[in-house]
Amino acid sequence: MKEIVVVSGKGGTGKTSVVASLACLIENKAMVDCDVDAANLSLVLSPRVIEEKDFTAGSKARIIQEKCTQCGICRDMCRFDAISQDYIVDPFSCEGCGACFFFCPASAVEFKTGLAGRCYICDTPSGDPFVYAELFPGEENSGKLVAMVRTEGKERAEQAGLSRILIDGPPGIGCPVISSITGTSLALIVTEPTASGIHDLERVVQLARHFEIPSAVIVNKSDINQACTDSIEKYCLQNNIPLLGRLPYEKMISEAQRQGKAVVEYAPDLPVSKAIRDISERIISIYKE
Ligand code: SF4
Ligand code: SF4
Repeated sequence: MKEIVVVSGKGGTGKTSVVASLACLIENKAMVDCDVDAANLSLVLSPRVIEEKDFTAGSKARIIQEKCTQCGICRDMCRFDAISQDYIVDPFSCEGCGACFFFCPASAVEFKTGLAGRCYICDTPSGDPFVYAELFPGEENSGKLVAMVRTEGKERAEQAGLSRILIDGPPGIGCPVISSITGTSLALIVTEPTASGIHDLERVVQLARHFEIPSAVIVNKSDINQACTDSIEKYCLQNNIPLLGRLPYEKMISEAQRQGKAVVEYAPDLPVSKAIRDISERIISIYKE
């Protein structure tokens, strides 16, 4: 099973539009959206949910008013100001540190795991299985939910006898990204030719190296700043990272998204669509079935 995760050092690089197009071009695969804080690949894949699974996580404190003597110890202990003057815990401020639970002399604090998100297992018009999830507002442990989404995606791929999983990773380099890239076959990094784009590229390359994941790079909107694109190319050469392609800036990508389509199906004759097809062919040739 080859898992290809598409990542970017930050949001807004056009990562998901690249993934949506690759999803149209790469066959024999399952699709997984690991951006559990803002899953949007479903907008272009037109999935049909066939199963939903609850994601429970985190421990939030709750004060049992009948037992509480209002001694104030918990309010003094709480470093997150999560306990109101009338001793009610604000679940959005509570970090689950447990201090109030351990120090309450009246055993008036309880800890329970709660529903923190939901995972959706879907089929799509193309026949590819697709798994995505949403983390509820204010909830944490997105790394654990990412792990759940990947596990579900892998199970569906195995059940269907598929040899590839295409993963839309979260932006950044935090816990959910680490959870998305560990154990994958390739980190496909979508970057853009700006100073911050190069900086973010370097950070995500370092992260992939740390987990011994091979990297490859796509420069999106490569023609908006030729000097920066040249710098990215030089960086890739110096660091022995394959540059799989340069995508020209194309306004039609946004229009395709508004129509719920990937640009390669909405406007297949555009140069950007041709460039993405070339990239997909390189990926297919590297990760043969
Ligand atoms: S420490 Fe316990 S008893 Fe004291 S105010 Fe907090 S919840 Fe109530
Ligand atoms: S668990 Fe920690 S953060 Fe939450 S209310 Fe208790 S002391 Fe505050």
